[in-house]
Amino acid sequence: MWETIIGLEVHTQLRTKSKIFSSASTDFGSEQNTQACAIDLGLPGVLPVLNKDVVFMAIKFGLAINGKIAKKSIFARKNYFYPDLPKGYQISQYELPIVESGSINIFHKDKSKKIGITRAHLEEDAGKSVHDLFDDKSAIDLNRAGTPLIEIVSEPDIRSAEEAVIYLKKLHSLVRYLEISDGNMEQGSFRCDANVSVKKNTDKKLGIRAEIKNINSFKFVENAINFEVNRQINLLENGNSVIQETRLYDPIKNETRPMRSKEEANDYRYFPDPDLLPVVIDSSMIEKIKSDMPELPDKRLERFIKSYKLSEYDANILIADKFLANYFEETLKANNLESKIVANWIITEILALAKKSNIDTENFPVEPNNLNELLVFVKDDIISSKQAKEILQRMWLKGEKANTIIEKEGFQQISDSTELDKIVENVLKNNYKSVEEYMSGKTKLFGFFVGQVMKETEGKANPKIVNELLRGKLDKKC
Ligand code: ADP
Ligand code: MG
Repeated sequence: MWETIIGLEVHTQLRTKSKIFSSASTDFGSEQNTQACAIDLGLPGVLPVLNKDVVFMAIKFGLAINGKIAKKSIFARKNYFYPDLPKGYQISQYELPIVESGSINIFHKDKSKKIGITRAHLEEDAGKSVHDLFDDKSAIDLNRAGTPLIEIVSEPDIRSAEEAVIYLKKLHSLVRYLEISDGNMEQGSFRCDANVSVKKNTDKKLGIRAEIKNINSFKFVENAINFEVNRQINLLENGNSVIQETRLYDPIKNETRPMRSKEEANDYRYFPDPDLLPVVIDSSMIEKIKSDMPELPDKRLERFIKSYKLSEYDANILIADKFLANYFEETLKANNLESKIVANWIITEILALAKKSNIDTENFPVEPNNLNELLVFVKDDIISSKQAKEILQRMWLKGEKANTIIEKEGFQQISDSTELDKIVENVLKNNYKSVEEYMSGKTKLFGFFVGQVMKETEGKANPKIVNELLRGKLDKKC
């Protein structure tokens, strides 16, 4: 039997205003080449200055994974030639990274598993080659050059594509909880290289790995790994061997293809950057950051299950995203709403609206207090939950508040039993044949009567009261 071995290298863009070694802005989407200064371009005579925010962020991350924070770490030059790398080297960390030997826990198939994190180091990003701007030429945009990254390298502890995705989602959630990265995968703020190998499960030694570069969606990671595992098993079962190489994932063809093999691999000639001092971190700084740490996903999950009596499944969906979890707690704050009901509304309705309109959890157009107000109307039987869903859609799209929509559109639910009693009486009178059938045992017709009352009231009748009235009257007749 074959066993799959996976180790991931994740690059996360740190959420700073300015770059790692210069004061140029890190904003995404600005006009090309307007955000690269002399330092990012490596012009002669300039010196990089370390942005201290990136150090704080790396420490925060190191603490969150129970890692060792290096008292002294060193920036090194990684030398290679590429058109989008203006200096001819990337400033990174090599022998002495800022964080070492941490871990995170993942839950898979009802089991908890620890994935080791070998190291996390700081580095700068390169620029971007743009191939679709001119017909027969490539263009270079250097806005991204010098953007701060933290590279998080896992141990080869991951055993399947599924586990890889769970690990990545957990890491993604963590950097967002720590507010050290926005984790925006479409903009490349969270991307991953997957190292994949297979071996016979009786073998002690790991197999030869291929490294799939720069995958930027959870789905692609899963597909790329599965493809790669099958490719390697096929090779080995047919008496061929796997070669160590770098591969690219093509999402359109859903396959990986060779990029460069080990023989062509770069010799990076790492050496300490003479322009930068070692980063020295004292324990008081670590203590200070420790005392300011936010509540992290694992703790929050526990708390959500315990204090809000949510199922583990629901709690997991809510806590996976910090902003979603905050949204839930904010919505629940006032008016004694039931936590389970609020959780349901957010998980089904709100998340569906967010998905449809492609809005992320940080930017929901319906404020938590407005969702609270809507749910209070439902709780007080002013509107039915079916009406509330309709109203919520309008709140989401038009930014109106629940009470405005209810007043303007006459959405009020009819809960006055005297008024409903009259309508129910009428429905029964006008459908006496069905009443007779009901009495002779065709009890399925109950739904038909409810439907008729709803039709009469244009869906505004309070279904609970209608049910009670109908039961009372029909059972009396029986
Ligand atoms: P490099 O510096 O060449 O990228 P590293 O030793 O730093 O190599 O490993 C990079 C990643 O590859 C790590 O995440 C590690 O866990 C993973 N890895 C190492 N050996 C294997 C293997 N045989 N199969 C799968 N992953 C591996
Ligand atoms: Mg690597």
